[in-house]
Amino acid sequence: MANGLTPARTGYRPRVNPHTYGKYVFVDVLIIGGGNAGLSAAGRLLRRGVTGVAVIEPHRVHTYRPQLSYVGAGQSSMNSAERTQRSVTPRGCTWIADSAVSVDTATRTVRCASGVSFRYRDLVLGPGLVPDTKALPGIFEALESPTVASNYLDRAEQTWKLVQSMPIRGRAVFTVPRAPVSCTGTTIKPLFLAADHWRRTRRLPGVDITLVIDRAALLPSADLTTELLRHLDDLGVQVLHRTRVSKLNPDESTITVTGDEGCTTLPYDMLHLVPRFRGPRWVHDSGLTGDDPHGLVDIDPHTFRHRTHPNVWAAGDGATVDTDPSGGALRKQISILVDNLLAARRNEAVSRYDGYTVAPIATDARRLIVGEFDRSGSLASSLPSLIDPLKPRRTAWAFDRYVLPRIYWNLLLNGHL
Ligand SMILES: Cc1cc2nc3c(=O)[nH]c(=O)nc-3n(C[C@H](O)[C@H](O)[C@H](O)COP(=O)(O)OP(=O)(O)OC[C@H]3O[C@@H](n4cnc5c(N)ncnc54)[C@H](O)[C@@H]3O)c2cc1C
Repeated sequence: MANGLTPARTGYRPRVNPHTYGKYVFVDVLIIGGGNAGLSAAGRLLRRGVTGVAVIEPHRVHTYRPQLSYVGAGQSSMNSAERTQRSVTPRGCTWIADSAVSVDTATRTVRCASGVSFRYRDLVLGPGLVPDTKALPGIFEALESPTVASNYLDRAEQTWKLVQSMPIRGRAVFTVPRAPVSCTGTTIKPLFLAADHWRRTRRLPGVDITLVIDRAALLPSADLTTELLRHLDDLGVQVLHRTRVSKLNPDESTITVTGDEGCTTLPYDMLHLVPRFRGPRWVHDSGLTGDDPHGLVDIDPHTFRHRTHPNVWAAGDGATVDTDPSGGALRKQISILVDNLLAARRNEAVSRYDGYTVAPIATDARRLIVGEFDRSGSLASSLPSLIDPLKPRRTAWAFDRYVLPRIYWNLLLNGHL
């Protein structure tokens, strides 16, 4: 191998090659994070003829996260949402089963937890987000409690268990944190899907549902927000705006929330917790976050190039993309990022990203609003103009549930889309 590493498909070896230990291994394009952003960037670069591409990713299992909403609603199994990291790493890309611990932009090196360092010509970051345990202590302890679940924290199967066991006249609390969070729209997908189950099993009306939103407006798109609030109103959901979860009390099955009116305690039989998130600490400690208060990689949101380190690029949930991050947004982001990285190598002009993103929200078990909008919050529907983009549709749900997973596994991660 030109770059001295083991290609993922021809004999994966997670342990460090002793000959490279403590020395630099050169990689043409080094990618940190083998999630949606990192793998689709790798796939696209390879298709564009770049040969030395390697992805650092510690996890052995890759999850198609949008499917977790359906796992949490009993429509899908966890098995079908997961594949081995090895099987999804694009052919020709080297998978480094390790964690990056620091980036030194002066020497263009990345150090990994194993002690191996890599040198790069260009670095692409797709590190995603981590729960902000400082903003809300006790998140992981709360998840051990039998009445707390979260599709966002690897507890989608627990969500479905709690939905099924909800007592008649029980109390359910769902939370939406302030930005940044992955695909804000899907934070309320579990509420609509649960409510539909309770309606079909004659527990709704009856179940007392509260939605705690730590924002003034649910989504940057006013049209979409109005439509969703109408659906929530139809279900009798109590919506608390500008209200944050300030304390978790899992032993008492309550949370404390703080809003304009002060503190309130909300009891629950089921809590679907989406906490606040932030960028991983090592990104900040490597001096890559600029002034961003959430520890995101400080890129120009139009070009995906780092504002101060021109050989560093980033996209996805963990970057300052200046729009609501989502998997749907990533398809465009990665296409532009790869174009721009290659254009910059040739000293050519770069393309610009308009902030296109999606908030696909199932309003019941078989209908979904696609929810496409741009950076300004204007609807940016890819549907023919005769079709109302705010109307929940069965076809949209079927596409989201059955077609998109196939596109993801078979086309997107390989850089075909
Ligand atoms: C429950 C849920 C439902 C969603 N539903 C939808 C939907 O319906 N539609 C939609 O468009 N979007 C949806 N999204 C959003 C979408 O999944 C994300 O926007 C997308 O996965 C972001 O990809 P990413 O690569 O930026 O981050 P991630 O997928 O989080 O990947 C980041 C990767 O970086 C790795 N990493 C972190 N630190 C290091 C390190 N130090 N070294 C090496 N690797 C590291 C992590 O292990 C991880 O694999 C959903 C998200 C969730 C959580």
